[in-house]
Amino acid sequence: MTTNQQLKPITVERNKNLYIGGCKMEDLAEKYGTPLYVIDEKTLRSVCHDYKNAFKKYPHTKMMYASKALCTSAVSKILDSEGFGFDTVSIGEIYTILKSGISLEKVLFNGNNKTEEELDFAIKNGIGRISVDNFAEVDLISKVGGKYNTNVDVLLRITPGIECHTHEYIQTGQLDSKFGFDLSQTDEVIKKITTEHQNIRIRGLHAHIGSQIFEPQCFHDEIDVLIQEISRIEEKFGIKLDEINIGGGLGVKYTEKDMPPSINEVADVIIASLEKHIEKYNTEPPMLYIEPGRSIISTSGVTLYTIGSMKQVPNMTKYVTVDGGMADNPRPSMYQAEYEAEIANDISNRIEEKVTIAGRFCESGDILIKNIVLPKPETGDILCVYNTGAYNYSMASNYNRVEKSAMVLVNNSQSDIIVNRETLDDLISHDVIPDRLK
Ligand SMILES: *Cc1c(COP(=O)(O)O)cnc(C)c1O
Repeated sequence: MTTNQQLKPITVERNKNLYIGGCKMEDLAEKYGTPLYVIDEKTLRSVCHDYKNAFKKYPHTKMMYASKALCTSAVSKILDSEGFGFDTVSIGEIYTILKSGISLEKVLFNGNNKTEEELDFAIKNGIGRISVDNFAEVDLISKVGGKYNTNVDVLLRITPGIECHTHEYIQTGQLDSKFGFDLSQTDEVIKKITTEHQNIRIRGLHAHIGSQIFEPQCFHDEIDVLIQEISRIEEKFGIKLDEINIGGGLGVKYTEKDMPPSINEVADVIIASLEKHIEKYNTEPPMLYIEPGRSIISTSGVTLYTIGSMKQVPNMTKYVTVDGGMADNPRPSMYQAEYEAEIANDISNRIEEKVTIAGRFCESGDILIKNIVLPKPETGDILCVYNTGAYNYSMASNYNRVEKSAMVLVNNSQSDIIVNRETLDDLISHDVIPDRLK
């Protein structure tokens, strides 16, 4: 069993109260306020260890954490200390990593509409790789590289014709996607780069086939396409590409019914596929880059809420409302994501009942969890929602003009703030009243 297959952080303990990382959740709620994001350092490091261990058999592997899942300075520091590089998608993520004291050499910049300002910042600060997504970007990268008199190492982002989400798996020759080059366009972009832009060095190919993937076979087929393409490019253009980046996407266990494969299982499929296709297409073993986001950070994170009002609709749903919702976790309202939760404080001698956890925001769709059985919730209880490390804080908004929540890191009974709660003054800090309205 690897960490991505666990619903809860690995340090969870329950006697009367719920503890994570040796810290009593009720105490954290009291000390830092709610809603509160909590990240368990041991769980995070344990996933990193799982990944490193699983890919030992293929020594040419580089792990890149997909920052978009959760990008903060302290989280970046932990991933860096575990030897991970970073996959980034904006100047904001790159800036966060740089300001955390991490070299951009280990960073890949990816995205389907990077601006000149972003490319300028990335190239000026020595970004390791840029994933070229489209034709317009080729000229822009070359222009900025010229400005700093530097060669730029790039991967070509391709759409391999494989799309995989959880159990759905689509394989076609072509994919209608906004990301990357269609396979029928790779020759043209290679010609463009090699004839017009000597300061761009193509190092390899990049693809990403989906998220919350439960089916390792998707990666097998993705690697087939990538290695075949590398071998074809070498034959046709005499260019040796020695890197493949297969993206991220491994799934996690949000609810009891989710059964994601272990990191070992997925690594074994990836490595077996690499070895098979290296032999089949007679190429050198490439450097393998993987960029997991969700499966790195999701399980480490929980969110604490305080239960407030309740409403029993006669003969229907009982709504239990918490002090957060779609602004700190938009996933349930965006794509019907499901979560498990428990009450963190002492719930001895309570009978169970089925309730719906509602958020506090002014949208009927702001429901965090539908029909969950809990020991009869009471106003003032602390609710702990599991697996909120990925795509929660990173997707958070100030909807209803509510301050973004704080985040703490827990380990060995210690808790440290890693993101301060926004203040009311933060909320208005960018507002401007023109003179004529004063
Ligand atoms: C989003 C993304 C990832 C990370 O995906 P997860 O499902 O969070 O693992 C990796 N690579 C690319 C290119 C992405 O867009």
